[in-house]
Parts: sequence; structure tokens; C-alpha cells
Amino acid sequence: MVDNYKDFNSVIFEDKPLFLKDKIKNSILNGATFTIKDNISIKDWQLSCASFTLKNYKSLYNATVIDKILNNGGVIIGKTNHDEFAMGSSSEHSIFGNVKNSSNNQYVAGGSSGGSAVSVALKISDFSLGSDTGGSIRQPASFCGVFGLKPTYGRVSRYGLVAFASSFDQIGPFSKTTLGLAKCLEVISGYDSKDSTSSKEKVPEYSKNIEKKIPKKIGIPWELIKEGTNKEILLKLDLLINFLKKNNFEIIDIKLPNSKYAIAAYYILTMAEASSNLARFDGVRYGFRDNSNDLESMYLNTRSKGFGDEVKRRIILGTYVLSSGYYDAFFKKGQQVRRLIKNDFENVFNNVDVILLPTSPTPAFKQGENLSDPLKMYLSDIFTTPVSLAGLPALNFPAGETKNKLPIGLQLIGNYFKEETILNFSHYIEKNFNFD
Ligand code: GLN
Repeated sequence: MVDNYKDFNSVIFEDKPLFLKDKIKNSILNGATFTIKDNISIKDWQLSCASFTLKNYKSLYNATVIDKILNNGGVIIGKTNHDEFAMGSSSEHSIFGNVKNSSNNQYVAGGSSGGSAVSVALKISDFSLGSDTGGSIRQPASFCGVFGLKPTYGRVSRYGLVAFASSFDQIGPFSKTTLGLAKCLEVISGYDSKDSTSSKEKVPEYSKNIEKKIPKKIGIPWELIKEGTNKEILLKLDLLINFLKKNNFEIIDIKLPNSKYAIAAYYILTMAEASSNLARFDGVRYGFRDNSNDLESMYLNTRSKGFGDEVKRRIILGTYVLSSGYYDAFFKKGQQVRRLIKNDFENVFNNVDVILLPTSPTPAFKQGENLSDPLKMYLSDIFTTPVSLAGLPALNFPAGETKNKLPIGLQLIGNYFKEETILNFSHYIEKNFNFD
């Protein structure tokens, strides 16, 4: 393992790239290079989750997505840096240091899959895989000016992805083009007997179909967007809407009344799931173990020293919301809100084909700016977490840049298993509209 993060702290290269020689020719990926977020297992490669807990841990097997990439002619060249255990919106919570924004190294790359976004933006690799629990593919893609897609929950096997919040986590691709996303998604999707939540829904030929059906009814949740969204982002959204109107798309004002509760519900539910998922890192079964004299101090010291502050904060809060006496007030309420948010989307999709909105309320912020205020950091997930609570597919596409040359991203949300609809629409915009 070569510790070569380059200037942006984004990619950890392996000594030898991984590929299957006889699978490359005439394959869909055709020798394209990949980097992989360091919470996805590749046999005999490091699987650090950017945590001291797993610093020297090596994976024993391949995640299903890795086998699929290799069998379809992909070449894997390294792992990418991210927020510890995928918890964060800025890639500043990592034992390897901050990932820096590919457009300006004073700014954050977004998170948690910041290294994957930078890897693609700087052409270190053709594609990258990240994981998205509440926006971790879409938001860094928007901060770094690349395409990034979170599939429908169940579309892609989670086998070999280190769990953060199992009922939310999905693996998805980053690319410089919509067509690239389509190819990657086609390769990594599909039923897997090793993940009981993976779906048997047929996988379409996304890349072949990309110029076929273009959606016509576009929903915009104005009520949710208008408060607190950066003016330069709203301007790009307006430009696109005008273009769409001129080209006979139907623009419909939609309401997602419960999405304003998404951040509260998302953080309650994911912290609860995380507190349970991360119980396995106890010094006995995996990774780092503190040498203490008795069992109790071994557990205590291992977990105190092994996890960073953000992870500890979530484990503690997650344990709290699950504890008897508080369960009804927090966890149960969170689940009820989750259902209401899902119902809102189902209603809206009776009437529209896709939903268009910003990916994040602001462009990338400066490193350190939100670090001391976790609530402020969490607020940046307002447009991505409703989608994750509902389990819908969504993608970020680049929409030009701010006056300060920071990328702007917009988001398309599709109905369940309608990745094709958002890919086709994104491809249409990419080919026919210029934001600058
Ligand atoms: N920013 C969100 C969080 O910190 C999303 C993280 C993710 O999608 N992995 O939970």
C-alpha cells in the first residue's frame, strides 16, 4: 500500500491495480479505471473506514460490487478517503486528514464520499464508487462538479459495504458524464443472495436506453427550496427551468410538506442504526484493541480511542434515542415521520415524472467553517435526506459554477426503480443546455 494522497488527500493507491485480464476485451467497462471508497471491501486491500479502529485492517473478501466491476472489465487502482464510517458532510472527519475540494483546496470536498468525487473531478480515475446514506454521493458530487448517483434502496447489493445505517445505505457511482453513471449502474445493480434487502427487479440496459424516453413532467418543490438556498444556486435552477419551459416540458409546483422534518428524522434514525451497527467494533472481533488489564477497561479504552468525535457523538445519541423511556418520543416518532415523507413522494409521483431541486443549499464551504457546529453541518443535508428516508433514486448533475469558481449541482429524484428516467433526463440536459 502506497500512502500517496496527492495534494488533495483523496486517493490511496495500491501497489498493483486489480483487474481480470481476460474480462477487459469487449466488455462494457472496457478497462476503465475505478477508485473505491474505503468502506467497501476488496480482498487483501485495506478497509479502514477512515477510522483508527480499522487502520490496519485488511478485507477478507470482495464486496459484490467489486466482483461485478472486475467481471465487466473495470480496473481498480485505489481506495478513496472519506468521513469516518461515512458519517459527515465535508470529509473532514478522517484519520487521513481532510479531503480538499478539487476546484479550490481551501474548501471542503463535501462528504462523506469526498475522495471519490475529487478522484473523478481530477481525472485520477474514470469512475469511483461511494456510498450514500443521506447524501454522501450526491453532495460531494455537487461540491466538486461531477455526476453522482444514489440508486433506489435495494437496487445495488450492500454485501461488503461496512454498515452505517443499514436501512438507508446504498452504493453508487461517480462519473464525469451521465453515460458513465449509466454504465456503472448497469454493472453494479441486481439481485444478490448475499444481501436480503437487494431487489429482484430487472436491471434495464441504462446506457443503451439513455436517449430513449425523456420525462416531460417536472416537479419543483418551491416551498422547500426557496428559504435559505444560496442565490447563485437558485439562479442556475431558474435558467434551467426557463430552458425547459421553452422546450415544452411541463413544470409543476409540488408540495413535500413533511420534508422539513427530514433532517431531524434522518439523524435520529441513522444514529440509532449506527449505534447498533458499530457495536461490533469492540476490540475483540475486529481491528484495534487497547491493551488493558481487565475486560471492561479493554472495551472502554478500545472504543474511546478507536472512534473519532463525530462517530462517538452518533453512537451516544443513537443509544439514547433507543433507550427505554425515550424510544417512543424519538425513534418511533422518527419512523412515523419517515412514513409521512415517503407518502408525500408517492403522492407527487402520481403527477410528475421527476423532481428537480438543488442538491445542497450552498456551494462548498471553507474547511473548518462548520466543524465546531454539528447542527449547522447537519442542516446542509436538507435536500438529500428526504430522498434517503423514502429510499428513492436520485442523482447530482453539474450546473455551472459560482462567481468564485465553485461548482454548483442540481438534483433529480425519480420514482422507485426509475433510475432510467433520471439518467435519460440528466443526459438530455448535459447534451442540450449550457449553464455558463
Ligand atoms: N451527511 C450525512 C451524514 O452525515 C450523510 C452521510 C452519508 O450519506 N453517508 O449522515
